[in-house]
Amino acid sequence: MPEEIIWIGDEPFQLLFSESEIQSRVRQMALEIEKDYAGKSPIFVGVLNGAFIFMGDLIRQIQGVDLEIDFYKLSSYGKEKASAGQVQLLKSVDTKLAGRDVIVVEDIVDSGLSVSYIREAILAHSPKSLRFCALLFKESVADLDFIIDYVGFRIPKQFVIGYGLDYKQLKRNLPAIYQLVDSHPIQTGK
Ligand code: 5GP
Ligand code: MG
Ligand code: MG
Repeated sequence: MPEEIIWIGDEPFQLLFSESEIQSRVRQMALEIEKDYAGKSPIFVGVLNGAFIFMGDLIRQIQGVDLEIDFYKLSSYGKEKASAGQVQLLKSVDTKLAGRDVIVVEDIVDSGLSVSYIREAILAHSPKSLRFCALLFKESVADLDFIIDYVGFRIPKQFVIGYGLDYKQLKRNLPAIYQLVDSHPIQTGK
């Protein structure tokens, strides 16, 4: 059994999704995507850094579809627990996305700024289709004028770490997801 509470300095984090809960949800998402993309050759575009573990697990559960991968890298939360309120592009994709079936893979959609930015960037390439996949979705926080097609878990406005998600660039290697036990509401840049 994973530990229910972990401490990072003087901040307690509580287990939110165990490794096995995550793995079984990722398998379900993979099956759904596999079904939707049968006979197609999609390209999975991960958003670094946070999505790398989720995307690695997700694509290894998809064996019935010929797929490619590429990555965007955006500036993230950095050292803070709140969104910076603006997006900075650190790396673009190398693949030509024109005419391709593109699936954007995110660790988490919070304010929605990042996915909205990526959407505009990808639409400028004229893909054949574009869908979004996020392991975690803070639906009540996000301000989006399009849908997230594949969602792992909907979560409330809370700061989470592990399974790719960092705390001051650390803790991405936790196999489970933990939430900050919070006595103060978190600023999310909204
Ligand atoms: P956005 O606010 O643009 O939707 O989210 C931007 C990025 O901030 C996400 O892709 C993710 O990498 C990071 N982020 C958002 N919420 C959280 C969170 O609760 N914990 C961590 N560690 N990162 C988050
Ligand atoms: Mg991310
Ligand atoms: Mg971060």
